[in-house]
Amino acid sequence: MHCPFCYTEETKVIDSRLVSDGYQVRRRRECGKCHERFTTFETAELIVPKIIKNDGTREPFNEDKLRLGIQHALEKRPVSADQIEEAISHIILRLRSTGEREVPSKLVGKLAMEELKRLDKVAYIRFASVYLSFDNITQFTTEIENLRD
Ligand SMILES: [Zn+2]
Repeated sequence: MHCPFCYTEETKVIDSRLVSDGYQVRRRRECGKCHERFTTFETAELIVPKIIKNDGTREPFNEDKLRLGIQHALEKRPVSADQIEEAISHIILRLRSTGEREVPSKLVGKLAMEELKRLDKVAYIRFASVYLSFDNITQFTTEIENLRD
């Protein structure tokens, strides 16, 4: 990283240790040019990214909204509440692991579709037809055909 004093790129780590019960790494660095020393802290960013809506506005990720969408698709389908929660956890984990601060809402939909495809084909089609808002019957049949393979 750049030296905060002279902005040169050439800095080296002279000491590195775990702090905060190992949830953080503290690094002592020294600039190779001006020899100033400074400290950096490294932590895993485990926040769920914000959602970029289709109109470009941002909103916080809403777990309840996702749950409602999934439950709606799974109405009267043989899928347990535990399986639904597991699918939601899986989606959140995958959102976190993108390492992005913001992701398009399309990604949430895509991940939900992947989970539903695994859980229940009927629910998947229900969700996909709303989510992808199929413009025509061809698009819809293509999706059904893909499921057969
Ligand atoms: Zn420097």
